Amino acid sequence: RHFNFSAGPAALPEEVLKTAQQEMLDWHGCGLSIMEMSHRSDEFMSVAAQAEQDLRDLMHIPDNYKVLFLQGGATSQFAMVPLNLLRGKTTADYINTGVWSKKAIAEAKRYCDVNVVATTESTQFTSAPTQDELVLNPDAAYVHYTPNETIGGVEFDYIPDTGDVPLVADMSSNILSRPFDVSKFGLIYAGAQKNIGPAGLTVVIVREDLLGDTLAGTPTMYDYAVHAAAGSMNNTPPTLAWYLTGLVFKWLKAQGGVEAMEVANRRKAEKLYQAIADSKFFSNPVVKRNQSWMNVPFILADSNLDSTFIAESEKAGLLNLQGHRSVGGMRASIYNAVNEQAVDALIAFMNEFERTHG
Ligand code: PLP
Repeated sequence: RHFNFSAGPAALPEEVLKTAQQEMLDWHGCGLSIMEMSHRSDEFMSVAAQAEQDLRDLMHIPDNYKVLFLQGGATSQFAMVPLNLLRGKTTADYINTGVWSKKAIAEAKRYCDVNVVATTESTQFTSAPTQDELVLNPDAAYVHYTPNETIGGVEFDYIPDTGDVPLVADMSSNILSRPFDVSKFGLIYAGAQKNIGPAGLTVVIVREDLLGDTLAGTPTMYDYAVHAAAGSMNNTPPTLAWYLTGLVFKWLKAQGGVEAMEVANRRKAEKLYQAIADSKFFSNPVVKRNQSWMNVPFILADSNLDSTFIAESEKAGLLNLQGHRSVGGMRASIYNAVNEQAVDALIAFMNEFERTHG
């Protein structure tokens, strides 16, 4: 297997894939695969419940939060959040730090007045605002932000303090990368295909008291309370993705949990950013305190060499380093399943590329 720096769907731990391979034809002696059995069977229900418990353990999720395993991706959450959390109010606060924040804002505008309480657009989204720069509206239904902008590689270095107004986070690309105090959030959501598991599953962690007061006309499948009451089985859930996600959670526990991930991820990111800082050929525009641990965009001094860089990196077994189509350049996504060896191999390749082409 090659080193995979994809932003998502992203690398999965090899141990997880091996277990899935072993269990694929005959899950635990049942004589059929996990994806061929009813989601309401005792066997699948136990897989589902264990995955939820393992996530609760990993993130130390308090008992007054529901954990939902949904479909529709993080993009559906851009609508589900306002539909469920406006709760009679007409405005919501949004922090704008890049492409994903903007998409969340555009969708929320269909349902409420959006108050953009801080934006870093004028500096091309190369930083996140500080707490002092957030001019929050005490009447807002909630405050939404994107703790890690996957495309820009901008990560908040703190959790915003929003007082009594619930804080909502699109944690798609940094959930489980380090400990987060869940009690500081009203709602956390994340598409699975980066740091959780395969595509097809969306995890939502929501404080119970925020449920049950949706906007008129909210579709049944967009109502968190419906999913909470049905154990995320109001309809047929994505059983294969849920099972694989459960294997990733078990793997994370065996690694020492998010506390161990924090140590590993810090080391990986510091190494790569240091290599970029030491280079005269590669650069990253993000202010140091907001350099993402998960997504590291970088550009070459000569963009004419971009295609050569991609071709040679692929030949060296380093896959998916091209930047997002909207920004170009390169991006190395170094999620939990991308180990330090992969980062070392990338740095060695970059040094050699600079020596021969720089
Ligand atoms: N939010 C962030 C921060 C993302 O990185 C992505 C996907 O890349 C999305 C939302 C959209 O997720 P999905 O494709 O699951 O709808």
